[in-house]
Amino acid sequence: MKRQGLGARGWGLGLCLLLAASAAFAGVPAPEELFGHRMGADRTVLEWAQVVSYFQALGGASDRIRVEELGKSTEGRPFIVATIAAPDTLRNLDRYREIQRRLADPRLLQLGGGKAVVLVTCSIHATELASTASAVEFAYRLVTEDTPRMRAIRENDIVLLVPSLNPDGVDIVARWYKRTLGTPFEGTGPPELYQKYIGHDNNRDWYMFSQKETQLTVAKLHNVWHPQIVYDLHQHGAYAARLFVPPWMDPTEPNIDAILMQETNMIGTAMAADLTAAGRQGIAIHALYDFWTPSRHYSAFHGGMRILTESASAKLATPITVAPEQLERGNGYDAREPSWNFLEPWGGGTWRQRDIVDDQLIAMESCLYQAAIHREELLENFYKIGQRQAARKSPWGFVIPAAQRDAGATAKLLETLAFGQVEIEHTAASVHVVRMAQPYSGWAKALLERQHYPDLRQYPGGPPVRPYDATAHTLPLLMGVRVETAEAPVAGLAPGILPRKPAVGMPGSDTDSWRVVNAIWARGGAVWRNMETGDFAAADAGAGWKQVARPRIGLYRSFVPNSDEGWTRWLLEQFGFAYASLQNKEVQAGGLRKHFDVIVFPDATAQSMEHGHKAGSMPEEFTGGLEERGAAALREFCAGGGTLIFLNRATEYATEHLSVAARNVVRGVAASEFYSPGSLLNVRLDTRHPLALGLPAEIAIWSEHSPAFATGEAAPARYAEDHLLASGWLLGEKYLAREAALVDARVGGGHVVLFGMRPQYRAQSYQTFKLFFNALVY
Ligand SMILES: [Zn+2]
Repeated sequence: MKRQGLGARGWGLGLCLLLAASAAFAGVPAPEELFGHRMGADRTVLEWAQVVSYFQALGGASDRIRVEELGKSTEGRPFIVATIAAPDTLRNLDRYREIQRRLADPRLLQLGGGKAVVLVTCSIHATELASTASAVEFAYRLVTEDTPRMRAIRENDIVLLVPSLNPDGVDIVARWYKRTLGTPFEGTGPPELYQKYIGHDNNRDWYMFSQKETQLTVAKLHNVWHPQIVYDLHQHGAYAARLFVPPWMDPTEPNIDAILMQETNMIGTAMAADLTAAGRQGIAIHALYDFWTPSRHYSAFHGGMRILTESASAKLATPITVAPEQLERGNGYDAREPSWNFLEPWGGGTWRQRDIVDDQLIAMESCLYQAAIHREELLENFYKIGQRQAARKSPWGFVIPAAQRDAGATAKLLETLAFGQVEIEHTAASVHVVRMAQPYSGWAKALLERQHYPDLRQYPGGPPVRPYDATAHTLPLLMGVRVETAEAPVAGLAPGILPRKPAVGMPGSDTDSWRVVNAIWARGGAVWRNMETGDFAAADAGAGWKQVARPRIGLYRSFVPNSDEGWTRWLLEQFGFAYASLQNKEVQAGGLRKHFDVIVFPDATAQSMEHGHKAGSMPEEFTGGLEERGAAALREFCAGGGTLIFLNRATEYATEHLSVAARNVVRGVAASEFYSPGSLLNVRLDTRHPLALGLPAEIAIWSEHSPAFATGEAAPARYAEDHLLASGWLLGEKYLAREAALVDARVGGGHVVLFGMRPQYRAQSYQTFKLFFNALVY
């Protein structure tokens, strides 16, 4: 590792600074000294404790870096950030934070002299492991190198470097890699989620903030530092472009400011130019990734660009060979053919972790250098974006009335908005108001309004262009909270959220009643339920009330990591349900009725449930699925009076193996005919049915390639004739018309419940949590 330029820099600075600089350099350890290998070397993975020690060593040895623990990860590991800048900047961080705070709010008196703040975040997806190695090497270089670019970065920027947004995942992947190293399974992904609850969905949490890592990043970095740029490093498939960098593809969420998008185009294109000038090939811009869902980025609605790079992967740390004909054609480009946005294709060959690190080091330096040379415009535009957002006139605002069916969901919605720095006011009549005259009005508006996703086709009349993630994010519909648009000003406002009134009783319409019910069960108490209203009571209130026993819940867990399984676990724990995870062997062993009243199968394909990982693709104990023995055990469970719950695509397993009299009417329908890629759809409920207790007659459900059923069995939720789309994008509503979205089938002596939706969607769908909870106590 070079330590060039020290002398030259020192002589130019005068004796005092020379001494300081020399002291700063003495004993700054190079990564090799601590790790014993070059960053990104073949078959090397980093463990989190080593990464933390290295950053602490850097922090102890140099006055250009400060290392801070922000809190603990989900599984208790230190979650750290390194702040890197010129020593003089680091000594005055409070002042720079104050400058940022004022710039972020154009209503305040402004201070000059700010720095460009850039947050760099690595390896949230833990199998995309190279960026943590890049963070280590880049931190060392940024602290020690004296090139004009590195000097410009230190002088003009404040770099907040998070070497991993998912420290637990770093170790889950490192342990698995070491365990399989030198075996036929070297380079496979671990047979578990790489974040305890939500795995790959951990970067789909940026507006609901359900996980600790998201909460720490938003509360302690975004909301404190208001970064002008957030550069988030990822990896995609091995056969795609070697590196993607923005401009993004259409659509852009309409509430994101145009200045921000233009700057993103500018910075991304400059990074692509630097990568190309450095001789790197296979650089794609304006391809693959759209900029629609706020679940993947918080910053773009808070005045900060989101720069994403996606590097082609190796097999974790194991090199691969890519034949030219394996390179793929993706949305907006072809990895084999040059085009304006993919000027120099990479011709194939060996691809290794170090190649990814090399690209990422150039990209990191380039991004930070662009921030440095454009510092003044970025800060001025950041202020302007806030001004433009606060000048939004239509609508005037949103009103959240006090009278709501679900007090728990309403309180959660308000808290969630406030966590995202939305200013909330209230009137004397205890109506909450979100007015648009505020710096983050676009964020509030995006989350409170209905989405109209554009009808994008691959060619006129052709199949839809797949959205990168979901198309709807309307929290009031997801949470079952009534929110009204106000076109005229609301008078008599006072700041803040009103304290929550203590609940009267345990209404069936309040999602939070389930927490209370579970707490009563947990301490051995009894619970009764009114079978008309769904309300709960801790004592028998007489006619119409029925005692509800605490359900013994089994939750199916495959060795194929499944985020929906993790979200289900997370939800059960949040609401205090006791449950046991069931793996293939435990299901196959049979006798399930002795231990369980209900077994839940999260969203997964029937194929993956039945067969799991193919024999020979993983160590033997992780291969296979439920197989025929598992299906037989489930039929026996049902015959014994148990309830089986299948979520979304998992319903196909039930229709194939459990002789449920329901047919999925959209099975096999081409995407150009029927398409529902993460949308909110209107259904009507039969509120007299036990599964719909506590819910209103019309709700929106989360549909994601969801089945709909033609069935003679009870159907507590059905689609109406038309006007099915509530928010997002839907093709082919005629297929859904009048069909069932929720089926309660009698099989043997028990029930099979088919959810043609994701009722526990990503910690958001409070409205349909209640359908799911009702099914658990059925
Ligand atoms: Zn990723």
